[in-house]
Amino acid sequence: MQSPLIQELIEAFRVLPGVGPKSAQRMAYYLLERNKKGGAVLAQTLAKAVEEVGHCSLCRTLTEEETCSICQSSRRATGELCIVESPSDVTVIEQSGIFQGQYFVLMGHLSPIDGVGPSQIGLDLLESRLSDKSVSELIIATNPTVEGEATAHYIQQMAFKYEVKVSRLAQGIPMGGELEYLDSGTLSQAFLARRSM
Ligand SMILES: [Zn+2]
Repeated sequence: MQSPLIQELIEAFRVLPGVGPKSAQRMAYYLLERNKKGGAVLAQTLAKAVEEVGHCSLCRTLTEEETCSICQSSRRATGELCIVESPSDVTVIEQSGIFQGQYFVLMGHLSPIDGVGPSQIGLDLLESRLSDKSVSELIIATNPTVEGEATAHYIQQMAFKYEVKVSRLAQGIPMGGELEYLDSGTLSQAFLARRSM
């Protein structure tokens, strides 16, 4: 029988996606038996990150600053705004090196069944950015899922109102697939072959 504190630690690891009871137990014992120092660093860093990381006031991605480094960079103010569902999508696109503009991170997609409407994914903030005329092209890179497509369509309608050009990544992304699992080559192709909406 595990001590209550060890049991608590195992339970705590289970907040992570894909971590079942077995893996959680392995992680807990690994840290306690073999790497207490690593465990302490993990605990401190996690506490600090959870406390300090919030959302960029311009693009909504995760950052501990008021605005993220991409939004802060004047070189990135090309007028192109790439709309993605999650911060990990920004990371994959950045790794491909294909895109030089700025991002807008929805932190999800429209999903009326789950009560996720336009304001939950920041579309009011996006609309205010479209209205200030600093955006010349929206590149919608939501996932090619039913919800991702519905979200893309909604944003397209919004951009139409402000006469902003809209294009959509399509080529090479399998239907139902997710951006973050694409390799850089496929992603670069998807950017170059983006189609107008
Ligand atoms: Zn930002």
